[in-house]
Amino acid sequence: MDHPTDGAAETSQGIGERLAALRAAVDAAARDAGREPGAVQILLATKTVPPARILAAIRAGYPLIGENRVQEVTGKAAELAAVPHRTHFIGHLQPNKINQLLGLVQCVQTVDSPELGMRLQRALDRLDTKLEVMLQVNVSGEQTKSGVAPEDAPALFAAVAACDRLTVVGLMTIGLNSPDMAAVRTGYARLRELRDQITGSGSPRAGAVTELSMGMSGDFADAIAEGATMIRVGSAVFGSRPQLV
Ligand SMILES: *Cc1c(COP(=O)(O)O)cnc(C)c1O
Repeated sequence: MDHPTDGAAETSQGIGERLAALRAAVDAAARDAGREPGAVQILLATKTVPPARILAAIRAGYPLIGENRVQEVTGKAAELAAVPHRTHFIGHLQPNKINQLLGLVQCVQTVDSPELGMRLQRALDRLDTKLEVMLQVNVSGEQTKSGVAPEDAPALFAAVAACDRLTVVGLMTIGLNSPDMAAVRTGYARLRELRDQITGSGSPRAGAVTELSMGMSGDFADAIAEGATMIRVGSAVFGSRPQLV
């Protein structure tokens, strides 16, 4: 098992090695699926990971990170500002925290209601700025997961696309948590079909909907086989983390 160590040099070497192994596995999965390796971006899920270890990963050539909690985004921002990187928000966003988040993230992947889209739009209006977003879809139907029901995704797209401060760049899902990989893949295929349905809708803003953010440490190869353009990986790079409560 990999465990974080506190020797800084050893840590960044370990992170660099695990990143290289991950990139090789991602490229292999893409080739197996008949896809271009470069078509799959790696987003590092950095919840609970301290800034020094995130900086090591960014410096190793992985400048795209994802955080689940507004508090972690704000808490790490000053230290991470030392190196160019991009941050996506990948957790459930409470509307009352929008103002703290804006300016610190380049994309919110978890827009799952027209109301959240409108709240973002109003906050962006005040700041006179824009934001990329993804729509979170609950393809597994598990009650514990956020995200709009698949059948409601086209209507959510229409509502969010009406917000001119927001650019919908793709769809995001957290896959079914199951060892039944056929069932996991069915969900990922559903997300791809929804994206294709939206881009085929002829809506003028649908052309920007290209990303499929799906797949994590345990199932990224399956997600890539189903068309993932962005995988979100945490533990495979940073080791196991304390359970979030
Ligand atoms: C933590 C997290 C991940 C990464 O999970 P790992 O299994 O550690 O790779 C991906 N997406 C979201 C939304 C997460 O919260």
